Amino acid sequence: MDSSKLCYICPECSASVVWSLVSGKRGASSRIICTNNPEVSKADWNKHKAIFCFWTGVVVRQRDGSVKLFDSDGVSYIRGVSRNT
Ligand SMILES: [Zn+2]
Repeated sequence: MDSSKLCYICPECSASVVWSLVSGKRGASSRIICTNNPEVSKADWNKHKAIFCFWTGVVVRQRDGSVKLFDSDGVSYIRGVSRNT
């Protein structure tokens, strides 16, 4: 099966999400934020289409080195959508 690139989208506003998980250690986790979070959109913030989204989630490193994304409750998966462009 082709490992097509998965995109993860915010459950609140359907924008893409960003995270940075440096550690490759199994069980390591980090916070995920939405690209509409003011923390990340500062650089190219457009006041005409200002959507602020404060959704956060959790990304957890799996044993095989992949990552799993969860909603802020730590239980619900965030589904990846493949983007074939
Ligand atoms: Zn969002």
